[in-house]
Order: sequence, then structure tokens, then C-alpha cells
Amino acid sequence: MFSKQTITDLATAALLAGLASACMPEDEHDHFAVGPGVGVPAVVETAPVEAGDDAADDPAIWVNPADASASLVLGTNKKGGLYSYRLDGSVHQFLPLGRLNNVDLRPNVVVGDATITLVAATNRTDKSITLLSLDPATGMMAAAADGLQATGFADPYGLCLYTSRISGKSYVIANDKDGTYKQWEVTASTASKVKLRQVRTFAVGSTAEGCVADDETGMLYINEEDVALYAYKAEPDAGNERSVIAAVADMPVLKDDLEGVALYDAGNGEGYIVASSQGNNSYALFDRKAPHAYVGSFHVTASADGTVDGTSETDGLEVTSTALGDAFPEGLFVAQDGLNTDPDARQNFKLVSWAEIAQALANAKQ
Ligand code: CA
Ligand code: CA
Ligand code: CA
Ligand code: CA
Ligand code: CA
Ligand code: CA
Ligand code: CA
Repeated sequence: MFSKQTITDLATAALLAGLASACMPEDEHDHFAVGPGVGVPAVVETAPVEAGDDAADDPAIWVNPADASASLVLGTNKKGGLYSYRLDGSVHQFLPLGRLNNVDLRPNVVVGDATITLVAATNRTDKSITLLSLDPATGMMAAAADGLQATGFADPYGLCLYTSRISGKSYVIANDKDGTYKQWEVTASTASKVKLRQVRTFAVGSTAEGCVADDETGMLYINEEDVALYAYKAEPDAGNERSVIAAVADMPVLKDDLEGVALYDAGNGEGYIVASSQGNNSYALFDRKAPHAYVGSFHVTASADGTVDGTSETDGLEVTSTALGDAFPEGLFVAQDGLNTDPDARQNFKLVSWAEIAQALANAKQ
């Protein structure tokens, strides 16, 4: 963890970087521009998705409890299904389940008498929530839902999961592209399969997608794409009360759309909220603790050996603080890459070592 003093210095350094970037002329090639903040090299890239144009979208990370170096990255192909990838980027499984948009998972989800690793995704093909269980012994995912779990949405879009420390219950939180949210409790059907029961609805105002719940604190963070990152509460009775963590209009380091958002849990209530600032190809860090002060920004550059290109126009992202083998000793950051180059190829996901992100941010203050 950075000290409080470090955080202040980083905020100043990153603010200056952001101001510098905000002063650069905008043109049609702006989406190729290097983002604000410090540069951090990619380590691995996944195999490209098997669909052209904008197709890779949102990742999740499964930490293998028996062997962390054999953990998996899940990634949606929003034109055709869900991949899982090994940490070397190779494909472990592909499920052609339709236009899956966002994906999240939780281990230890109680479903009747069983405890499963639950994977959930918004499915735009049949306007449902796709529910899968991941077998910890093999890392393979299989259907877990008792029939179609309809959303009632015109276009299911963002999604995240929440497991309450208060009740022990797990929830799927997802939204329509118009920013209308619903929250469903994960329950067991009579057939011991997973079934969803709606417990909450609220609206953020306009298009939103990235969301993440902090199971320890019960907070729910949501990006309204053109507007702001918000703190909501994740319990089903929390209503629509919210606070603004960061507004696009107020922060030069942020450029819409705000897309994916994830939580780096450093333990003891410490850590960061990480958000994709898609419009300037960067990622912004905020303190996990309220009032969620801005900490700094980074962008992802090519790997040191040049074999993996950097990221731009990131949609979904995910992060874990768990050490995943020698390559990711302080955890793993995964970002969708809008432009997979060197050589030009279909879109994919980039894997970055959190240790290098932390080091780059610490160096930036010196
Ligand atoms: Ca995109
Ligand atoms: Ca996700
Ligand atoms: Ca979006
Ligand atoms: Ca926009
Ligand atoms: Ca790239
Ligand atoms: Ca997306
Ligand atoms: Ca590449």
C-alpha cells in the first residue's frame, strides 16, 4: 500500500499528467493517443476472440484455490459467447451461448444444500441472465440455471455479483442499456438448480455498464458512461441513494465513456477502485475507503520484449489482489483491448502485473 503522503503526491502527479493530456489537441486519431498517468507494460495477451470488429468486452478472474498459478481469466465475446483463458492467454473453454456482454463470478455461493462457484453474464440474445457453475477441479463451466432467467430488459448490458456478509445471500445486479437496474437474489429451485428472484430496481439516469460490489463493505460502484462513477449500496433494501465519486465534467484525467470498474482488495479495508476511462485510453484509481479520493492514473503499454501490444479504448476490466504465480506476485489486472495489433488481429484481453502498476505509480511521485 502507498502511504497517505504517497497518495497525495500521486494525486498531484496524475492531476498534472491529466491536465497535460487535456491540453493536447483532439483529432480523429485521439483514440490512438497515449493515455494520462504512468505507463505499465502488458505481460500476456489472450488468444483473439473469434469475431471481428468490437467483440471482446468484459473479463472476470477465477482464482484457483488449489493452485493459484492455474487460475483462469473469463472473457465475453459479445457477438457469440464466453471464453475462459489460462494465464498464458491460451483458450481453456469456449461456450457459444449467445451475445454475452458482461460477466462476473463468486466462489462459495450457497444454492440450497450446495455451494458452487457461480458465473453470471448478461445475455443480449434472449434478454436473460446466463448462469453457470464452474467446477473448481477442472475449471470447466456448465449450465446451472433452472430455465430461462428473463430480465425484462430491452437490452441487458452491465452486470456484477454481490455476496452479502450480513445475510450470506448472493445477488446478481444487472442493468438495461438505458440505465435501469435490477437486483436478483440467487436461490435454489426445487430441482436444486439456480433461480433468480427480483428484490430491487433503481435507475442511474442514462447508459451505464461497469459495476462492481465490495462484499466486505456492502458498497456498489457504478459507472454512468457519460457522467460519473457513483457509490451506491449493495444490500437489496438500499434504494437509490448514491454519492458521486468522480464526475467526468470535473476531472481532466477522465474522458467518457467510463466503462469497466473493479475492486483491488488490499486487505484491512484498504485498496482501490479501478475504472476504465475509455475516451483517453487510461485507468483511474480511487481510494477504496470513503470519500474515495482520486489516487492516480495509468495506461498499459507494450510488453518489454514488444511481443504484446498495449491497450486502448478499454471496455471491461477486472483485477485481483491474490498472487497468481511468479508472473503476478501482487495480483492480476485484466483489460479488454479495443485494438489488438502487432500483428493486427481481432480483439483480445491484456494481462498486467499489479506489482508493476503499484511500482509505476510509486515511481511517479519521485
Ligand atoms: Ca468497444
Ligand atoms: Ca466483469
Ligand atoms: Ca459501454
Ligand atoms: Ca460518451
Ligand atoms: Ca492494443
Ligand atoms: Ca461493454
Ligand atoms: Ca497483439
